[in-house]
Order: sequence, then C-alpha cells, then structure tokens
Amino acid sequence: MTTTTPAANPVSSSPDVVSNEATQRFATACQNISKEMMERWSAADLLALYELPLMDLLWQAQQVHRANFPANVIQCSSLLSIKTGGCSEDCSYCSQSARYDTGLQSESLLALDVVLSAARAARDSGASRFCMGAAWRGPKDKDLPTVIEMVREVKALGLETCVTLGMLKAGQAEQLKKAGLDFYNHNLDTDSDYYAELISTHSYADRLATLQAVRDAGIKICSGGIVGMGESRKNRAALIAQLANLPTQPESVPINHLQPVPGTPLADQLPLDHFEFVRTIAVARIAMPASWVRLSAGRGDMDETQQMLCFLAGANSVFYGDKLLTTSNVDMQADQQFFNRLGLQIVKQESDQYG
Ligand code: SF4
Repeated sequence: MTTTTPAANPVSSSPDVVSNEATQRFATACQNISKEMMERWSAADLLALYELPLMDLLWQAQQVHRANFPANVIQCSSLLSIKTGGCSEDCSYCSQSARYDTGLQSESLLALDVVLSAARAARDSGASRFCMGAAWRGPKDKDLPTVIEMVREVKALGLETCVTLGMLKAGQAEQLKKAGLDFYNHNLDTDSDYYAELISTHSYADRLATLQAVRDAGIKICSGGIVGMGESRKNRAALIAQLANLPTQPESVPINHLQPVPGTPLADQLPLDHFEFVRTIAVARIAMPASWVRLSAGRGDMDETQQMLCFLAGANSVFYGDKLLTTSNVDMQADQQFFNRLGLQIVKQESDQYG
C-alpha cells in the first residue's frame, strides 16, 4: 500500500508539527496494520488526524478502507425494539428513559412470533444481521430465556444475530453465546472524561466490564458512540481512541449522530457540523481498519450526498429499515435504489466472507 504526504494543515496552530506527526503515524499504520493495532493509538494521534484538511483525511481513510475491505460493499443490519421504554437509567440522549417525559409508549417484551416475523421481513429485504434491542439496565434472569429463544430462532432463519440488552451479569454472556449469539452491542457512547455529563446511573467502568464479559464469552462486539452531544473534538478523538484501544477492537463500530428527542436533557442540542461527523467516520476507519464502521442514527436526516461522503470516509455498514428502536430511519426501497446508484453491493454475511 502506498502513502501520500498531506499538505501542511492551515487550521492548526502548529500546522507542520500536527500534520507531520499524523502523517508519520499513518505511514506506520499503512506499512503494517496489524502492528499498528498492537501498538494502539493515542487520543492525541487521532486529534491530529481530525485536524488534517478534510480532503487529506478522506484520502487517508480511503486508503485504509481499500486495504482492508472490498471498496464497494455495504453491510446492512436491521434493528427491532423488543422491549420499549420504561428504562430505569438516565442516559441524557435517550427517549426510553422512564425519567424523561418523551411521550413514548412503553411496550413489554415482544412475543417470539412478532420478532420472527420482523426478522423474516428483514432477511427477505437483504439484511444480513438482525439486532434486537431492549430498554433495560440489564436483562433480568426471568427475561433472559425469552431473549435466548429469540436468538436461537432468528439464527435458524439464516441471519446473524445481535442483541443490545444493557449491562450483563456474570454468566449471562455465556448463556447468550450458547444460544448462538454472534454480536453484542454495548456502546461506550462518549469519551470517559465527558461521560458523567450525560449519564449517572451506570459508569464507564460498568460498560467496559460488560464488553469484557462479552469478549470473554466469545461473542463479537458491536460498540461505538454518539456524537453531537455537546462534546468537544478532543472528546470525540478520545472516544475513538478508547474504542480502538479495547483489548480487541470491536468488529462493528456504530457511529451515531444525536437525534435530539423532545423531553430529554439534550432536546435543544444544536446539530454537529456534517463535515465534523464525516471526520469522525474517517478517523474511526483509520483507527479501526478492520472494523465495520456503521453509519447509524442520524442517517435519516442526511441527504444522499452527505451519506455518500460518509461512505467515502470509510463507513461500510448501515442500519437498514424504516425504524431504529424508537426513531425513524431511511425507507428500505429508497436505500436499495440509492445503493444501486452508487454501485454498492449489499454483503450477505460478513462473517462468512471476511472472517
Ligand atoms: S440504558 Fe439504554 S434504554 Fe436505558 S436510558 Fe440508557 S440508552 Fe436508554
């Protein structure tokens, strides 16, 4: 793989230093990606990448992307809320917290046949993975057998399975693994230094402990974050460094753009500049070269050109389907036409084709 030297960065206070450091780091990464993954990134390295001119950053991200993935494939996951609202936790961005008056109608755990019907529809529309989300602090022992049955039956439909259930207690990850669970989603959400501004009912260390339990059980990890929650660029760089520096990098990395929900503490949050969002995708791609970087919440508010820029920056996965847990997403037929126009091919099973 060849590398190029970006021009000096006109927006940095010390342009040559920042640009050269980032370039050197990137050149090392390109020489040996697996070596880089062992060495790990610092937040400062990633901040330096953020501060490159956008075209240079995109060029670097494209090179990393093409060195690790076929350039024109996209993985599609479908997401279903299997238990909605009434959550005990206080995540400031979330419509499902019982602490905020968001007008959301709570629903108890769905019946198996309802879940299977949604999973079949997702599979028939081209989704390769079916994600089931429950608004819990963590699954109660009485609920876990029902979820396990869902995992088993969805897997039998030929879909990859993912669940997001909150924090796991000892032994729960192993039970899910035994049922055939492929992925567990548990986002770090934001930089550990900013975390307390957003969530008080469970800690950053709690999240890391669940990710470790999932990894120890042999389940693949889906973990990313949300940007546009009032954090700084430095916080965003630190979040990506924390994801990239997990003992093993997450196989899937969802990058969400906050969708402010009326009634939540972040209801009036101003949107992040789209180019800053694109930079976040590009930095995630470079820092986690072998991960599927997913353009997640917020995609429904982006026009096609904005989405295309995210794909150019290295996003190669999307949530597919008209709804994301409780917020709207992009119409499926419109997505299929859009991908066709871009020449993007929907990948069938990422684990089969790319290990
Ligand atoms: S734990 Fe999950 S469902 Fe509950 S408030 Fe936080 S993000 Fe929402």
